[in-house]
Amino acid sequence: MIIAIDGPAGSGKSTIAKMIARELGFTYIDTGAMYRAVALKIKRLGINPDDPEAVLEVLKNTQIDLKPSEKGVKVFLDGEDVSDKIRTEEIGKIASKIARHKKVREILVQMQRELGKRAKNAVIEGRDTGTVVFPDADIKFFLTASAEVRAERRYRELKEKGLDVSYDKILREVQERDRLDKTRKESPLKPAEDAIIIDTSDKDINQVFRHLIEIIKNKIKK
Ligand code: C5P
Repeated sequence: MIIAIDGPAGSGKSTIAKMIARELGFTYIDTGAMYRAVALKIKRLGINPDDPEAVLEVLKNTQIDLKPSEKGVKVFLDGEDVSDKIRTEEIGKIASKIARHKKVREILVQMQRELGKRAKNAVIEGRDTGTVVFPDADIKFFLTASAEVRAERRYRELKEKGLDVSYDKILREVQERDRLDKTRKESPLKPAEDAIIIDTSDKDINQVFRHLIEIIKNKIKK
């Protein structure tokens, strides 16, 4: 069984996908982490993320592994654990840039399909998992929330970590990443026609989780 969860940055999809995978004992596949791992390598090598040929060349010589862990998943780039290093705004932005290239997407999508097939039961999460990676997924969810709510969540998360951040700057970053993801030619961020769309703006994570689990369990019973 494949459960696909898509949505913009900050919609809560990663947290929800991990919770669902844990509850059902499914494999959790974080597709964004794969774009982020490539982005980290591009940055380290000083390569221009807007150059499709150069990015593709790097990707062809890159090994990315996702390994299940307590927190959900560990991400390995050429054997190095980069799980924390890829979680910065800067890497997110570079990931959005390299995610615009058709050939780069084709390679990563292929890897994601193989991971899903190998897992048999998986919760796969990203931007195009219900539209492109697994168009035949058993259940598709699309989580949304206003840009302001998503920026607020991110702001609080970083504040709690003790970082000195500005809400306005985070809001601008969220809006910029939305723009990049929605306006690209290849697999733009949009709900699949048969996706269940859930606005999480005024719900907490547990409410969203319970709602989704109920839908999934009803589907499993059938
Ligand atoms: O979900 P996350 O914020 O980790 O994704 C980072 C970036 O990778 C996104 O902004 C998006 O541009 C890209 N991405 C994508 N397709 C996916 C997952 C992520 O284009 N399936």
